[in-house]
Amino acid sequence: QNPEMERLLQAYEVTAKLYHFLLKNTEYGKAAMEYLRSRGFTDKVIDQFQIGYAPNRWDTLVQFLEKRSYDPAEMEKGGLLSARHEQDGYVDRFRDRVIFPIWNRNGKVIAFAGRIIGEGQPKYLNSPETRLFNKSRTLYNLHQAKPAIRKLRQAVLFEGYGDVIAAWEAGVQHATAGMGTALTEHQAMMLKGLCDEVIICYDGDSAGQAAALKNFPILEAAGLHVKVGLLNEGMDPDDFIRQHGSERFKRQIIDGAVSTVKFKLIYLRKNHILLEEEGRIAYSREALKVIAPLSSPTEREVYLREVSSEVKVDYETLKQECNLLRQSLQ
Ligand code: ATP
Ligand code: MN
Ligand code: MN
Ligand code: MN
Repeated sequence: QNPEMERLLQAYEVTAKLYHFLLKNTEYGKAAMEYLRSRGFTDKVIDQFQIGYAPNRWDTLVQFLEKRSYDPAEMEKGGLLSARHEQDGYVDRFRDRVIFPIWNRNGKVIAFAGRIIGEGQPKYLNSPETRLFNKSRTLYNLHQAKPAIRKLRQAVLFEGYGDVIAAWEAGVQHATAGMGTALTEHQAMMLKGLCDEVIICYDGDSAGQAAALKNFPILEAAGLHVKVGLLNEGMDPDDFIRQHGSERFKRQIIDGAVSTVKFKLIYLRKNHILLEEEGRIAYSREALKVIAPLSSPTEREVYLREVSSEVKVDYETLKQECNLLRQSLQ
């Protein structure tokens, strides 16, 4: 491997250790530690995920890396430092943030996500893309989740780092997440190399639901079977686990994950008032668009019967309309 990449990997490794040490063992890290505790992070997960803290100063990392003879220009290019505005020199990129290391699939730290303590913008500050870090080819926690994903032939895909960590603690260890961006074909192929099925478990808000919908075709195109863990509006998996506990999370959300078709029907139904004729007609029209392309007659019948009882229209009528739609699709 080339020496510049080697040095950068080393720099990320020692920096992760520094931030982790500062969080756990120093006065600097106290407020961050209290914040993490208030959110339910235990010592065990803080160690397991090597969570850290970057102090509220401009030169903690600058000095630390300088002492170890790392070239600051190289470190800036590598995303650890920032160039000063309209002046020579460098400053720390991460200041007063909780640090979540991001690893490559071999368990080497290649980037950081820095979360603000409490409210504020931006909530997360991530490392820029570098020679080490390609967002579209990285899945959070994959190095630790890999054995469980392989064994269970299944992965659970979350939106956020906190969700992965909470799930891990709840005993759901085949957990991973994208990098806060849309899932890519490459990430889907990485998962396909390890398992056959993915449970998408995104936040229960409209952004999370929309992101889940967008990911179905990407995962399915990679040959993965997709299911969805359903959360109520305004909750994410992290919140759910803290509020209802791990057993209920595993039973209700993971074991209770629904098919993508079911998810789409639930999603569509939210936009219509089924107490009104027009709402029922509009909903059945959209539902039929989801059901008609399904190749299995059994699957079509199962979902048509569900819609039939929801909209109070005879199954045979819906079936007829579904078949007409199928013909027009061919
Ligand atoms: P928390 O529980 O700490 O509030 P979260 O993980 O629930 O955080 P969300 O707002 O649900 O955060 O966002 C989901 C994911 O999207 C985050 O984990 C992060 O990867 C990404 N993300 C959110 N906000 C930003 C941002 N401002 N910049 C970059 N990535 C972000
Ligand atoms: Mn969200
Ligand atoms: Mn969230
Ligand atoms: Mn959250």
